[in-house]
Amino acid sequence: MTAARNYIDGTWTDAGSDAIEMFDPATGETIGFAPRGGRAEIDAAVEAAKAAFPAWSTTPPPKRGEILYRLGQVMESRKDELGRLVTREMGKVRDEALGDVQEAIDMAYYIAGEGRRLFGNTTPSELPDKICMTLREPIGVCGLITPWNFPVAIPSWKSLPALVCGNTVVLKPSEETGGCATAYVECLLEAGLPEGVVNIVQGTGEEAGDALVKHRDVPVISFTGSSETGRIVSQNAAPMLKHVHVELGGKNGIIVLDDADLDFAVQAILWSAYGTSGQRCTAGSRIIVQDGVYDTLLEKLEAGARAQRVGHGWEDGIDVGPVVRPSALEKIEKYVKIGQEEDGARLVCGGGRPALDSALAGGWFFEPTVFADVTPNMRIAQEEIFGPVTALIRVKDLDEAIEVHNGTDYGLSGAIITKDLASSMKAMRALKTGIVYLHNGTIGAEVHLPFGGIKATGNGHREAGITGIDFFSEMKTVYIDYSGGLQRAQIDT
Ligand code: ADP
Repeated sequence: MTAARNYIDGTWTDAGSDAIEMFDPATGETIGFAPRGGRAEIDAAVEAAKAAFPAWSTTPPPKRGEILYRLGQVMESRKDELGRLVTREMGKVRDEALGDVQEAIDMAYYIAGEGRRLFGNTTPSELPDKICMTLREPIGVCGLITPWNFPVAIPSWKSLPALVCGNTVVLKPSEETGGCATAYVECLLEAGLPEGVVNIVQGTGEEAGDALVKHRDVPVISFTGSSETGRIVSQNAAPMLKHVHVELGGKNGIIVLDDADLDFAVQAILWSAYGTSGQRCTAGSRIIVQDGVYDTLLEKLEAGARAQRVGHGWEDGIDVGPVVRPSALEKIEKYVKIGQEEDGARLVCGGGRPALDSALAGGWFFEPTVFADVTPNMRIAQEEIFGPVTALIRVKDLDEAIEVHNGTDYGLSGAIITKDLASSMKAMRALKTGIVYLHNGTIGAEVHLPFGGIKATGNGHREAGITGIDFFSEMKTVYIDYSGGLQRAQIDT
């Protein structure tokens, strides 16, 4: 059985009688239970995090960084075990599950170094005998609400910058992947994090998540999930003027121009569209193709999609695992039906559940699916499906490609595949997304760079990289006047 537990004020507790059932998406079988935490558990966790704050926030940042460096080492030693847990709880294939863990390891090593930086600025003053500078200060208890699609990586993206900056943490992971989050917190403790500095409360979004967002002693909320929930979280946090970071959906486009290497383009598209069964917020779900190569690319992509091996994520040679839950499968089926009914769109391959051997008959699998002849305003070209479905849109030139690319509500990741430097440069500036990939697909973030999107994807913040440090610290501006007299800014010029 998977062990999803709460860790509050230095004490682990197991699921009680009113537990949340957890499933293996590859088989549909029950794999464990998570505690159904609510207001009482959130209150206790916030209390513990508050009590731990004075000591942790005054621990020298390099010392905090050393603990987080050890986290990287602990996770390396447990990488295989954590990877297996990722596949078991949310289904992604082995390489990606291990990559999920690797991303947290990378974040640990990166952020450990930040303990010796946490830079502010020094700058001249407009007045003589005066120096100006900025310092970073910890904020307090950070409430972190995470989804299931990167069940180890996303808790690390949020918690590690928060911790190195001197904050304490209450983590509310997804209902689906509580075991991964539990194991991640175990690693933090094994690395030497003091009691109370990190707390984890399992539970539903409506109970535990909501209580965390509304808690008056939690000044910072960082949330990754659906746009719908992100709006609710933002509204609930607004009356208390909290710092809120929301990282939401995407409808990411890959532009392929006439001069592209099509065999390479197909590899990039398959990886972007079907990696994590299309359940990444950066998934490539719109392929915007110039007229001259459209038919050839479609032919090659269809062959590639049909050749994707669907099956249990931990088995050898599997490209596409299951989707996370039955309701995700139903949503994908709904969009395939919408696509088939949209005038002109053509289902080229996939579109249903694959026939798998009996061990996986109860799993939540969906075939890699390609729609062709999609037009930019169709629902399958506008709405996030979060499954292995991609849509080809035909365009005449780069200008039209950019216009189509930018014509959605979302703005997370965009990509262009061309050999022409000028077209790449033009797209780099013109694509309205937080992330742009030149000569690749839309997926594949690195931890030392800012991650996030514009428009309906987010609210202007970025996680990871130095921007993660910015979000989890408060800037203090310091003026030091050693003139010995009264000097008035803007007046005594
Ligand atoms: P998904 O449907 O992909 O699981 P959600 O946005 O519903 O995406 O969930 C992302 C995270 O947000 C999960 O940890 C979930 O429990 C939590 N959550 C859901 N609803 C709320 C809410 N009203 N307040 C706070 N957190 C929530």
